[in-house]
Amino acid sequence: MQAIQVAKPGGPEVLRTTDLPLPEPGAQEVRVKIDAAGVNYIDIYQRSGLYPVSPPFTPGMEGAGVIDTVGSDVTAVSPGMRVAYAMTVGSYAEYAVVPARAVVELPAELSTRLAAAVFLQGLTAHYLVTATAPLETGSTALVHAAAGGVGRLLVQAAKRRGATVLATCSTPEKAAMVRALGADHVLDYGEVPDAARRLTGGAGVDVVYDSVGQATFDDSLAALRRRGVLVSYGQSSGSVTGFEPAKLSQGGSLYLTRPTLADYIAEPAELAARSAELFSWVAAGELDVLIHREYPLAEAAAAHVALAGRGTTGKLLLIP
Ligand code: NDP
Repeated sequence: MQAIQVAKPGGPEVLRTTDLPLPEPGAQEVRVKIDAAGVNYIDIYQRSGLYPVSPPFTPGMEGAGVIDTVGSDVTAVSPGMRVAYAMTVGSYAEYAVVPARAVVELPAELSTRLAAAVFLQGLTAHYLVTATAPLETGSTALVHAAAGGVGRLLVQAAKRRGATVLATCSTPEKAAMVRALGADHVLDYGEVPDAARRLTGGAGVDVVYDSVGQATFDDSLAALRRRGVLVSYGQSSGSVTGFEPAKLSQGGSLYLTRPTLADYIAEPAELAARSAELFSWVAAGELDVLIHREYPLAEAAAAHVALAGRGTTGKLLLIP
């Protein structure tokens, strides 16, 4: 089968197309014929070595397709089933082997491409607003990088919960898109934290969802109300280092968490419940899912360059 392989960590050029033997599932695994692989920022971190993965490896933490064969102990799913999965490495390929407990059957009306476009980032938006820092009517939330893959979905998920949403992004075109998604106030990054305070009568916001990391971290803390929550869930501008916990008390007894999706879908029941709700939003036409571009598998490097270059909005897919 054709697959992308990383022989050693590095720039986009280390993403090489290779011919590999068809992988065989273990007793509790399934093999999925991949229709579409989602491209996520985590793929860039794994490719570059920021998140270590033993080489050689096939990147890609998200895929959707059809189960092709199952391991000897697998009973819950069967060949022919259309599924999606996230947080198992290896989807930049024609076939991937995945733990049976990690796959979710797709509703008939949801195409595998749309599923690959919404699964990982949609589940992320879902757990952030329902579990990490739950929002409700009257909450105020600041969403950074709101035109991005997770960001677009997060704005919409926060509005569904009844929150007032402040959002940042880098260009007027992105700002228009974010406004159309329902954000109440769209800001330049440089306007935070002053605008966040002004728009909340001086108090600050309840929650900041920050995927940008290094460049925004201090301003995110400064935008929070007393006892507010900073959800630092990514680092597209670089990792946050040298953090002093005393900053939390100085900022008003703040909370800081650094969550990851894997811990919010580890149990099959939680994965099933979050997926079902996410799919129901899509089926009802209540979630605007934007596929920015589909690339042939062999153009994985171009997809990584585009995502890191801040020129994309919504989702990038690789099509084997
Ligand atoms: P995005 O589509 O959001 O792309 C990154 C965006 O970040 C850019 O489009 C850009 O938007 C903004 N950005 C700001 N500063 C920079 C910079 N210096 N370099 C590059 N981009 C910058 O990517 P994803 O939605 O795939 O992921 C966003 C983040 O969320 C990543 O860090 C990812 O790892 C993380 N994530 C975390 C998860 C978790 O469970 N913890 C799950 C999924 C994703 P603009 O130009 O508007 O500023």
